[in-house]
Amino acid sequence: MSELRELYQELIIDHGRKPRNFGKLETANRIKEGFNPLCGDKVTVYLQEKDGVINDVKFEGVGCAISMASASLMTQALKGKTLKEAETLFNNFHKLVIGEPSHIDLGKLQVMEGVSEFPMRVKCASLSWHTLMAAIHNDPNKVSTEA
Ligand code: ZN
Repeated sequence: MSELRELYQELIIDHGRKPRNFGKLETANRIKEGFNPLCGDKVTVYLQEKDGVINDVKFEGVGCAISMASASLMTQALKGKTLKEAETLFNNFHKLVIGEPSHIDLGKLQVMEGVSEFPMRVKCASLSWHTLMAAIHNDPNKVSTEA
């Protein structure tokens, strides 16, 4: 295993054990729940958005290390971003986890690239992002990776 991959793995384990921005966001004006029945991952994404800018974001949930680490990294990447930028991040993050080249610099999110080798894990990694998109689009449907 290369040094870079070891570093990535450490970051994922660290975020999985100690997720950042974890908890309920009392000031949230967009809240959405998502579920990945294949693995049992559940997340609730809280957004505090004003004039198209994400001022604050938190999440709650239970699940495997990949799903929790991905949600944790996502919240860190989103603060201060516009909804449109969030959507661009999602599109490129999705490319990353399915093994396609990303068109933008994904920063820390890059650590999830190893997931592309494990198709079952792609849903764990993208659950929080699908939930985020549903929150942004005010999608009334339930978010499930098996929908
Ligand atoms: Zn999972």
